[in-house]
Amino acid sequence: VEFEEFDLKQELMQGLAAANYEKPSPIQEESIPFALAGSNIIARAKNGTGKTGAYIIPILEMLEMEGQIQSLILVPTRELALQVSSLVKEIGKYMKVECMVSTGGTDFKEDIYRLKQVVHVLVGTPGRILDLAQRKLADLSKLKHFVLDEADKLLSVDFQPLIVKILQFAPPEVQIMMFSATFPVDVKGFINEHVPQIQEINL
Ligand code: AMP
Repeated sequence: VEFEEFDLKQELMQGLAAANYEKPSPIQEESIPFALAGSNIIARAKNGTGKTGAYIIPILEMLEMEGQIQSLILVPTRELALQVSSLVKEIGKYMKVECMVSTGGTDFKEDIYRLKQVVHVLVGTPGRILDLAQRKLADLSKLKHFVLDEADKLLSVDFQPLIVKILQFAPPEVQIMMFSATFPVDVKGFINEHVPQIQEINL
């Protein structure tokens, strides 16, 4: 399979070429068509298999330039948030996508300032994102995509209540995309309770 077969926007194809993404990795090949069709997905994927592209490519393809935050990407660590954001900027560099990173351990005031400008894609860790949503600083009511990267970590007992609360700020029809190396009971429980009609992708 080639990226051409997904019928992606020209600017996105240019971004993929610039990032040296020549052809889809197996996880991308399996996930992208479901993601583009709007399905909720859970993909079991180890790190280093191209899982970041598996959700960033569809998010960028579905990007609308109008409006505030449309995609929320939750990750367990600041380091991963920065990696994800740099890939959004790299693959999206011909698209004028505005991506913001927000994690614990940084100046809250900077987030407030940044949120007054355009943000299409928000990447962050659960505690800070929930804080911003609860204080009505980040408006998640127009979200189209809700991504849990390293879902097994994000849905562990400590974090899961935060994820559930964040999800409650999103519209009910939001598309949920989950990527997880393992598929423990915590993840299954979350899906049973909060994610209707999920497409499973196992590699
Ligand atoms: P990830 O699993 O998303 O962290 O990706 C692992 C590494 O593979 C990163 O260095 C990516 O830039 C690279 N990569 C992911 N997808 C592709 C692709 N389709 N073509 C070439 N490199 C890729």
